[in-house]
Amino acid sequence: MALTDIDLANLDTKPFFKSQVNNLIEILLSAYPEINIYLYVPDDAGNFILQELSTNQDHVFDSILPEVPVITEILAQESFSSTFISNQANAAIFSQDPDQWSEHSLVSPIGDQGTLAGFLLCLLPAGGSTDDYNLALFDGVAKSLGANSVTSNMLEKYKKKSDHLSVMLEVNTHLNIAVTKTDFLYEISRFGKYFLHFDRAVLVLHPEETPEYFIVDSIEGDEVGLQQGMSYPLYNSLVSRSILTGQHFVFKKSHKTKPEGIYRTGDYQGYPYDQVIAFPLAKVKNAPGVLVLESYSEYPVKQSEVGIFEMISQSLGAALTRFSLYERLNNYATIDTLTHLYNLRALKQRFEEELARAGRYQNSLVVLFLDLDKFKLVNDTYGHLMGDFVLRETSQIIRDSIRTSDIPGRYGGEEFVVIMVNADAEACLKSARRLCSAINNHEYEMNAINIQNKISIGLSEFPRDGETMQELIQSADAAMYTAKRRGGNQVVKYEKGMVPKSGA
Ligand code: GH3
Ligand code: MG
Ligand code: MG
Repeated sequence: MALTDIDLANLDTKPFFKSQVNNLIEILLSAYPEINIYLYVPDDAGNFILQELSTNQDHVFDSILPEVPVITEILAQESFSSTFISNQANAAIFSQDPDQWSEHSLVSPIGDQGTLAGFLLCLLPAGGSTDDYNLALFDGVAKSLGANSVTSNMLEKYKKKSDHLSVMLEVNTHLNIAVTKTDFLYEISRFGKYFLHFDRAVLVLHPEETPEYFIVDSIEGDEVGLQQGMSYPLYNSLVSRSILTGQHFVFKKSHKTKPEGIYRTGDYQGYPYDQVIAFPLAKVKNAPGVLVLESYSEYPVKQSEVGIFEMISQSLGAALTRFSLYERLNNYATIDTLTHLYNLRALKQRFEEELARAGRYQNSLVVLFLDLDKFKLVNDTYGHLMGDFVLRETSQIIRDSIRTSDIPGRYGGEEFVVIMVNADAEACLKSARRLCSAINNHEYEMNAINIQNKISIGLSEFPRDGETMQELIQSADAAMYTAKRRGGNQVVKYEKGMVPKSGA
């Protein structure tokens, strides 16, 4: 689309926000298929209104309130982090009798720098686990939406103010679809040149983990005096000052008073640029990074151009935040929260990939199906916490017993699957037996309770026992049930005629 094609009057900046919401909700749902998610955003009068919802068919409430004053109170008390809410509040939101209420819900504010742009209300099923891990996930989603809403709000504000809107819009659109961090700087360079002349653009990041350093993340232009990935102490330089204060700074060679240095103290030696402007990625002290524009010649810089670049840099900051949150969320969405093995969705995805590879290169592929013996007894005798502990320790033993190229996942409650690649069935059978006795010999010890547990393992082999994922899992499952019927605590290799539990 050409810049001039944009219809300014009918510009809608909300699509950025909308597509982001949909993406993120998809991530949440893939991690927690059983939840209901409601999104509230303020209307023109500032009331929070139910906007979108993604509900589970088995679990729909017919009476969720379209407006929720209760939440506003809760949000006022908590400082922008996800919070579990009380049964009383839950009941008020969902117009239910509080005595009947046994659900968990979680409210995650969406916003940034003190501005509340809305919130997500997530309803978890009764008994659904509510640990720090999923708090972090919901919080991440809300924060990511927050970063996005800042961009949208900025655009809205800008829409009123400037005739350069179309370029700003283009920048933001491109920042939204950029897939690598280097793309971000490329887009900024491309569009930024509509407003300011510069010969080199440098993106400097100041990660939370290394507060005393900043890092040269990417460079558009030559690399004189700099190197991608290099880190500098946050001390006595133009870039450092911009990070520390959250303000932009201009350096001109002709000025009498010079900063201590550009990137590091006294680095003028051999420095070819006559003019430098450093824009922080957020207008806060200890900013997350700086966009540095360097030019071979000095020229007067207008206030309006500075204003535009302040906004572009902040958009870049928001896009970068979103980018790293997105990466983290994607990671969360593939991992089972209790055992930290692959969850079912990720396991299936990896399975399909490995199966395709095995088919193409005629590699071997072996599937183990594991199910703890009489596990219900552990829960019934010692409680669910002990049960959870056994599941976690068992997962660790599984991880420790297999090769790093093998793929372990949690298939269901106390069932695991391991995909073993590039090893013949005999070798896999041996390691499965080792795993089985490692679990048999392990003492699970928690709060002075000391128990032992056994496991049954079924093994199937591609393509002998099945050509599809479903067939291979079915065969391994049938072999596992044969192991159970033979008394458990053993490994059985699939043979024709073995049947799973339902077929017994
Ligand atoms: P079998 O030897 O035939 O496998 O008997 P079992 O008791 O292991 O099998 P069953 O399928 O009857 O019971 C599985 C139990 O696993 C039931 C459920 O309470 C428990 N379970 C499933 N998921 C979890 C979990 O996340 N935490 C805990 N603590 N228990 C779980
Ligand atoms: Mg089972
Ligand atoms: Mg079992």
